[in-house]
Amino acid sequence: MKIINSPIQRVNFSDFELFVKRDDLLSRDFSGNKARKLSYFLDHDFPQIQKVVSHGSNQSNAMYSLSVLCQLKGWEFFYYVDHISSFLEQNPVGNYQKALQNGMKIITQEKLPTHFDEKTLFISEGGAVQEAQFGIKQLALEIKQFAQTHNLDNLEVFLPSGTGTTALFLQKNLSLKVLTCACVGDEAYLKKQFNALVQEEALHPTILKTSKKYHFGKLYEEFYAMYNKVKHQTKIEFDLLYDPLGFIVLENYLQQNPLKKVLYIHQGGLLGNITMLQRYARKSYFII
Ligand SMILES: *Cc1c(COP(=O)(O)O)cnc(C)c1O
Repeated sequence: MKIINSPIQRVNFSDFELFVKRDDLLSRDFSGNKARKLSYFLDHDFPQIQKVVSHGSNQSNAMYSLSVLCQLKGWEFFYYVDHISSFLEQNPVGNYQKALQNGMKIITQEKLPTHFDEKTLFISEGGAVQEAQFGIKQLALEIKQFAQTHNLDNLEVFLPSGTGTTALFLQKNLSLKVLTCACVGDEAYLKKQFNALVQEEALHPTILKTSKKYHFGKLYEEFYAMYNKVKHQTKIEFDLLYDPLGFIVLENYLQQNPLKKVLYIHQGGLLGNITMLQRYARKSYFII
């Protein structure tokens, strides 16, 4: 399986014309930016590797994508989480459920090992690894070809960041301007992430400011409203963790720069919406 060539679609969003790179459609089980980040491991042979160790939240998109990778590769998959509620344990759902079905072994309340043997591949939280550049370079190439074909010399690319790995490697491999916003932590955290992967600041993406401080994973009325507005206007479903803030920031940017042509990268994550929608439904006062 090769992770290449997702379609690009033209949509209307909030009085602006926008292009959307549909990385959510890369393949059925392996899609979004996690598929791009992990495609290096899919495309190469690792004869000595027998298992993968990673860590992070129990509903992470990266966790699910790693479970798919390990299944395709015939590797064991061990995933470390801080905690898991007994409710989730008894009622698995979303990314957690699918990852378990793919054979993931979950490890709770144990310290992550500091050393790994030669049979073990360690992948840090969210797939923030140097190898991620391989698949994101391919994404950059597809965007470059699209811009050339359509004479969009001043096209700008927008994507919301978590660890910032995708935005960073995209900017490093693309001459078009890459814009992003910090969904996890603040701008200083995101800059630190960029520096950890690439020191040269000229190669870093441009961080657009958020109007107010949001906490990652929390529910916000305006996030839910933006999710629904985008779904209604573009007929595309986006994720509920990163994209609502992404579209709030982008809308603000386009209102100030109405002539800009922007390509928004759909980074997948829809499996995570199952639990997010349940959480929003429980806060039913949001849904009027
Ligand atoms: C992981 C993820 C992100 C953040 O990607 P980073 O490379 O960590 O910045 C954004 N959107 C979705 C849907 C994701 O799954």
